[in-house]
Amino acid sequence: MASPLAEAEVVRVRASGKINLALRSGPRRPDGYHRLATVFQAVSVFDELDARWADAGEFSITVEGEQAELVPADDSNLAVKAARLLAREYGAGGVGCALELRKTIPVTGGMAGGSADAAAALLACSVLWDLDTSPDDLLELGAKLGADVPFCLAGGTAMGTGRGDRLAPVLSRGSYQWVLAMDDGELSTPEVFRRFDELHPTGSAALEVPPSLLNALISGDPVALGQSLVNDLEPAAVSLRPQLGRVLRAGRELGALGALVSGSGPTVAFLVADERAAIDLSVGLASEGLGRAIRRVHGPVPGARLIS
Ligand code: ATP
Repeated sequence: MASPLAEAEVVRVRASGKINLALRSGPRRPDGYHRLATVFQAVSVFDELDARWADAGEFSITVEGEQAELVPADDSNLAVKAARLLAREYGAGGVGCALELRKTIPVTGGMAGGSADAAAALLACSVLWDLDTSPDDLLELGAKLGADVPFCLAGGTAMGTGRGDRLAPVLSRGSYQWVLAMDDGELSTPEVFRRFDELHPTGSAALEVPPSLLNALISGDPVALGQSLVNDLEPAAVSLRPQLGRVLRAGRELGALGALVSGSGPTVAFLVADERAAIDLSVGLASEGLGRAIRRVHGPVPGARLIS
């Protein structure tokens, strides 16, 4: 297949991590999935992916950056899976790529790092190979790769239903400041859901995003948003990793407007009023030795986007 790009040329995509502002879960279904009602917000922690042409049928990846040693650099990497799926469905067998991934989204941190990389690969390779794919085509392929991939393509603030992959944009005013406490352990999403099933065999009390949360986003009110954050998986994550309970308490005592475990954890997200409060909270958490790393981020930000 002819490429409009010179062979040495690179397509570079940046993809963001996410926080779930609300995450409500129904019980385990016979197919193993849980019905979710969630509100995602993309935040300013980014992975970068470079894609270059390779011979037809050749797919490779290198991984650098934070926790790179925890990320597989083979066909099990979600970015490679995404490139292969795209090649199968649209590449007519005549394409290949060499991917270079630079990670800063925490690995197994509940921030959809792998899904962000899959989204980045779909976008990068569709441009690299000059494929006739619409944004909707990529969303559809993304849902086959993982429930969070469509949101990682879209970014911003969105409601997710079904497995979290059926998206509707949410009106959100303003920008929110967050402090993330990265944990030095890992929590696997399936393990957290298993504990959730043990704790709540019939699912959570209500499979509904709190209306107060949507109203807070519409009015751009961080105080109201902080009071509406909810994550049904949090008790399960805390029971598997009790240290998270201490981190949540410390952040609240240090003045966070709201606090929750991000997705299935173990990253903890604190909403703060402004940059000054973000700095104060970061210093407070660090001085108590809480978290592998503390990072200040903001959201919403866009999803996977070309940067060159
Ligand atoms: P989520 O929030 O979607 O539940 P997560 O952020 O908790 O996911 P990931 O960082 O996506 O977790 O990693 C989940 C698993 O996927 C890890 O075991 C990791 O080794 C594997 N993995 C495969 N590809 C990638 C990738 N490109 N980046 C990170 N992890 C990957």
